[in-house]
Amino acid sequence: MTNEISRRSLLGAGIALASGAAAAATVSSAADIKPKKKVIVWSEGTAPKSVYPRDINFAIAEGLESLHGWDVVTASLNDPDQGLPADLLNSANVIVWWGHMRHDDVKTELVNRIVHRVKEEGMGFIGTHSAHWSRPFKALMGTPCGWTGGYVEDGSKLDVAVKAAKHPIAHGLKDFVVPHTERYTEPFEAPEPELVIFDGLYTHPDGKLEKSRQGLVWTVGKGRVFYFQPGHESYPIYFQEEIRQVFRNAIPWAAGK
Ligand code: ZN
Repeated sequence: MTNEISRRSLLGAGIALASGAAAAATVSSAADIKPKKKVIVWSEGTAPKSVYPRDINFAIAEGLESLHGWDVVTASLNDPDQGLPADLLNSANVIVWWGHMRHDDVKTELVNRIVHRVKEEGMGFIGTHSAHWSRPFKALMGTPCGWTGGYVEDGSKLDVAVKAAKHPIAHGLKDFVVPHTERYTEPFEAPEPELVIFDGLYTHPDGKLEKSRQGLVWTVGKGRVFYFQPGHESYPIYFQEEIRQVFRNAIPWAAGK
């Protein structure tokens, strides 16, 4: 277990070291008295290598280099213990989850541990794009969580509108455009969110317009949950600066106080 954790922490440090600014922050924090918080960015390893050479967990983690006071750890379904041995999961303040093809491979025991961490211990959970059908997200919502209007990958343009400008997840963000994505069509089979942070407007290739909510928040037990719809694996969405800012905002928010 301990070796697993240090290996993963090193991976996280490797990410931080990818930029000079982050490297300096990492060095100074070694003597920092205040313990860092920890976010685990988890994915299942199925994104196309042509778009995400190191999978989606790494792409999201890379965007967190400037998130001060946080250890960023990547984990994969392909790692031992499905990437989340108990010690690691128990030490996390927030988990970010991306899955698509392999939802059913995630073990019930792991789903239960994640739900316990959120509901009873206040860990934050961020599900993105196709994680709407992930087992932990469905268990947290208690609903089937389908976008029942359907799923069409036609490269539609997405206009993301900041709807709750004063919410911490929207900090520093203005309305922005995701040039191409897969669209998920309302209604969404999840409980009514406490707040819609981002609204969305798809422009289909034929010019037709379609509304679909993009950023939703809930409280589940003691934990905070954020769902962010953008992130289809055949487009480089997680490399986009505005998308990265959303994660940099959402992670500290999801950690709670
Ligand atoms: Zn997709």
